[in-house]
Amino acid sequence: MSQWIQSFEVPSSSGRGTYRVSQDRNGQFGCSCPHWKYRHQPCKHIETIKNQVRAGHAPILHDIPTCIPANVRSVQRRDAESLLVPLIPLNHPQFLATVVVDLLLHGIPFQNIRSQYHLPAKTGRQDYVDQVLRHGRHTYGPLDPSRQDCAIDVSYTWQLPVPLLPGETIEDYHYRTSYPLDLVTLAYTRLPTAPTVSPTYSASKIDPPMTPARKSWKRRIILAP
Ligand SMILES: [Zn+2]
Repeated sequence: MSQWIQSFEVPSSSGRGTYRVSQDRNGQFGCSCPHWKYRHQPCKHIETIKNQVRAGHAPILHDIPTCIPANVRSVQRRDAESLLVPLIPLNHPQFLATVVVDLLLHGIPFQNIRSQYHLPAKTGRQDYVDQVLRHGRHTYGPLDPSRQDCAIDVSYTWQLPVPLLPGETIEDYHYRTSYPLDLVTLAYTRLPTAPTVSPTYSASKIDPPMTPARKSWKRRIILAP
């Protein structure tokens, strides 16, 4: 399946939330609504975007960032157009799940991630999110050049891809950035210094203990010249 190279936000007709219409390299459209996702039938959201383009209006466009493999500890934004993505250790499902969720959080469509990493068709987007919630975020620890390998850190804190503006709500953040609302909300409640926590939310009841489990993992280290 081809990968999306750009996407557009279309408000749903119920007025709650938005759907994402994406376009691939060949100009073909897809949509995140159930109509298209499960039946691959043309939907009104794709029609809306086509009409806007035909009428000469520029719809709100979000370019999907390019992923660049790099020697980084976790997925990082390099600039507005690209992300740096760590190599995933072989047979490490928790590390893979963390990278999948981080890429989703940074606005990469699940379909792109699925084809990039040859993910099994039976495993859905939510399965990866659940796995990270259960087992924590797996990232590389600090590099140790003397040992030629690298520990893997496990944490239960998250980062937002770009900082919140002063006074910005997480819904406003979602509309400004187009990052998925469920994941930015998740990241927001688990920031290292959670900014505002609703009184009913008890972090100690939900969050697993913060002791980082560390495990050594072979990794080739590319040292700067
Ligand atoms: Zn649609």
